[in-house]
Amino acid sequence: MSSNPVLIVGSVALDSVRTPSGTTERALGGAAVYSSVAASFFAPVRIVGVVGEDFPKKHIDFLRSRDIDLQGLQIISGGQTFHWAGSYEGDLNQADTLATELNVFQDFRPELPDAYKSSQYVFLANIDPELQLKVLDQVPDAKLKAMDTMDFWITGKSEALLEVIRRVDIVFINDAEIRLLTGIINLTKAAAHLRSLGPKYVIVKKGEHGAMMYCDEKMHFAAASYPLEEVADPTGAGDSFAGGFMGYLAGSGRLVKENLRRAVIYGSTLASYTVQEFSLNRFRNLTRTEIANRYEEFRQMVWVD
Ligand code: AMP
Repeated sequence: MSSNPVLIVGSVALDSVRTPSGTTERALGGAAVYSSVAASFFAPVRIVGVVGEDFPKKHIDFLRSRDIDLQGLQIISGGQTFHWAGSYEGDLNQADTLATELNVFQDFRPELPDAYKSSQYVFLANIDPELQLKVLDQVPDAKLKAMDTMDFWITGKSEALLEVIRRVDIVFINDAEIRLLTGIINLTKAAAHLRSLGPKYVIVKKGEHGAMMYCDEKMHFAAASYPLEEVADPTGAGDSFAGGFMGYLAGSGRLVKENLRRAVIYGSTLASYTVQEFSLNRFRNLTRTEIANRYEEFRQMVWVD
């Protein structure tokens, strides 16, 4: 593993989730948490976020056990942690948001610890785009900047969001969100539109149908999602995908085409593990060997000659 750390800002949450397989109440979640834990299998991770006093110590201990640097995680005494409630039905591809309580994120001003400011790999996970911009301002040397978002910010803060898009190299976004953001139904055209704003890569996540990386015309890359008969909880699949992708690239330290393609498959691998259990439970005992084996299965799935 190279020692390039990935800096990740985004929601650190308590999630209440309902799926056909069951429910959770205020379980560990948040875009920064899923992506940080996924990235931590490949590279050192630095997290930037905020929680309230209600955030259980066992969650902090879990993040520490993954060697995630928590200097950038503020704990607000008397504050309440961000809470998201959602439910999934049918094909599980789309969450219905039942509640978004920003709580401590409402007044959050990310101040990066000095040690974080030289980060070269930066992932702006899903959170208020104004906070994403404040983090970007503090990492002038970053050589790979990526971002994710969701419908809540596309409809609520589209101007700030477009500003983030103009300033990053990679956009992760799902099919419904890119259509909502651009007003374009055709995904290839919508991705080309986003690329025309600045980012070199647009990676469209399509739930159980996999992901497509749009880049220079002759280099687009498609990945299936891992075929699973049982999906317990799709929450965090997109964040785990992005975290696995960024972690692998930082760990490899080489931004070449082949590695970007491998990163898509590692991202899909991490996403496929996340959805097998609720919250981050599958990541608690996941090993590098299991990741390597599933990556190989992925390779075999598309091998032709
Ligand atoms: P996904 O990978 O899209 O399934 O992301 C799910 C995670 O996003 C959950 O763990 C939520 O805590 C988090 N989340 C939900 N709504 C928001 C929001 N408006 N801003 C930031 N994070 C959110």
